[in-house]
Amino acid sequence: MTIQSEKWRADFPILHQVVNDEPLVYLDNAATSQKPTAVLDALEAYYRTSNANVHRGVHTLAERATTQYENARETVRHFINAKETAEVLFTRGTTTGLNWLSQSLGEAVIEPGDEIVISYMEHHSNIIPWQQLAKRKQARLKYIELTEDGQLDMDDARKQITDKTKIVSLTHVSNVLGVVNPIKELAALVHDKGGVMVVDGAQAAPHMPVDVQALDADFYAFSGHKMLAPTGIGVLYGKREWLERIEPVEFGGEMIDFVGLEDSTWKELPWKFEAGTPNMAGAIGLAKAIDYLESIGMREIMDHEQEIVNYVMPKLEQIEGLTIFGPKDPKDHTGVIAFNIDGVHPHDVATAMDMEGVAVRAGHHCAQPLMNYLSQPATARASFYLYNTHADADKFVEALIATKEFFSYGPN
Ligand code: PMP
Repeated sequence: MTIQSEKWRADFPILHQVVNDEPLVYLDNAATSQKPTAVLDALEAYYRTSNANVHRGVHTLAERATTQYENARETVRHFINAKETAEVLFTRGTTTGLNWLSQSLGEAVIEPGDEIVISYMEHHSNIIPWQQLAKRKQARLKYIELTEDGQLDMDDARKQITDKTKIVSLTHVSNVLGVVNPIKELAALVHDKGGVMVVDGAQAAPHMPVDVQALDADFYAFSGHKMLAPTGIGVLYGKREWLERIEPVEFGGEMIDFVGLEDSTWKELPWKFEAGTPNMAGAIGLAKAIDYLESIGMREIMDHEQEIVNYVMPKLEQIEGLTIFGPKDPKDHTGVIAFNIDGVHPHDVATAMDMEGVAVRAGHHCAQPLMNYLSQPATARASFYLYNTHADADKFVEALIATKEFFSYGPN
């Protein structure tokens, strides 16, 4: 496994540099991932040989760009096992997908007094759009509780999801706790009550096999930049029956069938939702990133991350004064570990670790309600990906111990 991750690491040029006189150990993958040469080359090749606006041209480059863009949609379809490419919408990222839904799905299904259910572990992108919808429609926003070790409390989920619940939007994997939520079970619960299941897949799609049909999610949103692709491209999957039912949020070129003076009609799916010139290079980069991930295998990537968590967790547990948030068992985990050192602000932890060449993040991780729930103003967070090796994990633990020792010699 270690040998393989060394091999994968070699494909990422940015990782081979020295930061603060130390070899870089990049452990901020939950924020964004690095890009392999294959993706960088595909972007350059697109701009060097194929760039043109899609769909509207008959010239050779326009046809080439259109073919590559639409082939990318098929690559995504296969990656998440959607039934058809009509169900795969390109967006700017998870945030865009969830905002679209809060408007278009919200408009279609929410009436005053209805309930929208999320949880305490959601990212702001999966909170604020629903808050806004609830305010707009006089609906009620409810939160599912967490268990002591940071898993979704399924007993509470059964209580919160009622006949009044119209939309349930939950993260597949927490960007702070690393927990994997049982989406299939939750979707069954939601459907039983007649609601719609929306999934924030930002931290899942990059790290594990995702089969939207097996999960029975009605919508599933994710971001390319967290899975080796460029920034500015993402995906919103929706079941055809829902995408037919809801209206687009953005209007303009590319998405229209006929434009009159008073009214207009939309193209068929998926283009009805994609107003304006799309991010062609981004979609092509995303397809290349998926090719790369699939050449390794999503199961393999998930196993690798769990193995690293398995390797590092006992070492962390031995560090006195270190608190780990979320489950400790790697089987409940992706490669995200949130922690604090007693008496040291997480920003100081991240700054001190940066001096050792180790990139971790500190802050509220766009999850302020979760921070309040954990009674923490902020945490530090290390997040591993396929290219992180056991050597990276060792360096992380060493840097953490050095940081703790450094701060324990403070003024007395
Ligand atoms: N949801 C989760 C769980 C995330 O981790 C993130 C990114 N940190 C988002 C949503 C938002 O993703 P983006 O900023 O790419 O739109």
